[in-house]
Amino acid sequence: MGSHWHLLILLLVVFSNFLSPPVLSLDARVRVQLFASAENAASKGSVAYTLSPPFRVVAPLPLSVLTGDDWRLVLDSASRQVRLLPSAIGTLDDRVRQAGLSGAELQLLPLGKPLSLHAGTGGAAKKTRLINARVFLRYAGGGLKVIAELPTADYVAGVVGSESPPQFHLEALKAQSVLVQNWLSCRDSRKDIADDTSTMAYLGADYARTKCREAVQATLATQLRESASRRLLKPYFHSTCAGRLSTSQLFQGKPGPSARPAACNTCQASPFFLEHLEKLSAAEVERKLSLELLQVNERDAAGRPLLVSVRQHGRVKKMSGYNLWLLIGQKLGWGVVPGLAFSFEKQGGTYLFRSRGAGHGIGYCQWGGHGLAEKGKNYVEILRFYFPDAVPSK
Ligand SMILES: [Zn+2]
Repeated sequence: MGSHWHLLILLLVVFSNFLSPPVLSLDARVRVQLFASAENAASKGSVAYTLSPPFRVVAPLPLSVLTGDDWRLVLDSASRQVRLLPSAIGTLDDRVRQAGLSGAELQLLPLGKPLSLHAGTGGAAKKTRLINARVFLRYAGGGLKVIAELPTADYVAGVVGSESPPQFHLEALKAQSVLVQNWLSCRDSRKDIADDTSTMAYLGADYARTKCREAVQATLATQLRESASRRLLKPYFHSTCAGRLSTSQLFQGKPGPSARPAACNTCQASPFFLEHLEKLSAAEVERKLSLELLQVNERDAAGRPLLVSVRQHGRVKKMSGYNLWLLIGQKLGWGVVPGLAFSFEKQGGTYLFRSRGAGHGIGYCQWGGHGLAEKGKNYVEILRFYFPDAVPSK
């Protein structure tokens, strides 16, 4: 092939970049920050991390660890380094056995099976991530940054599996796959992606189940564009709307027009569809939230709180229902008020919280999409139902 061909191909690549945002390909990779919520918590720097053999160390020095107990990851603030400390036993090089492996950044690779990384103290608090890719362990801002460099298709399949229960219909998984790809194309690609629900859940390689991979393969490079402007749609999605959908005005606590569609009638099979009740000690709630809950002042057309009054440091102030819901989730646990469609009542020494659904209720309802798929709708029809002003296209 002559050099003219190369020039032509180069020009085509340059032009196609101008014409449309990058379409995801199997070759591309994304960088995902694992255990993001643990590192963002108040306990920053105090989370215990461990790593189970087998694994291969690439840097600072090559080393294969085949068997043995878990290795510990320790942060050394004085030298701003990460140290990987072996378990006591083993037939390791003396240098490694005594000092461990240290560096501002360590690099690991899986050895025969996915890397098994753990965060937390054990029991229910212990989180495990299985990662089938190169992992970087970096000292950053007084904490440990665990970054996995994943092939994009693996990441999308892992998110689809982390965001969807195993019983979800293939067409619902395809709809989710398109939305995950849209979100990836809309984000600032210079930043690492967090693995928690503040962005999209990514729980590891074991969540990229066969059906999720199939959904990704069938929808690779499919994008959802606004019909009028042809702009890429920035998608929002949530677990269960419990019947009524809201608009993104809810994030700012502002009233807006009714959502399109306003109702979803297919998420009844969700475990979060029925009202969830939670009774908690008022003293404990107020201590953990550092405020007293007074009342909901305004709700949107779907019944979700737009503005609430709270008392903090003796002063009454207003905050958005969305911000209060996030605060309750972060401080009291996400199971207390799973859905943003919530209310509260103070009765003597207790608060009674009631909520419907799970998640914010904006955009795509995942259980509703599954319900539509069970009724025979394909992923294009499902996406067109939840996003009537957008079109999916390759
Ligand atoms: Zn729904």
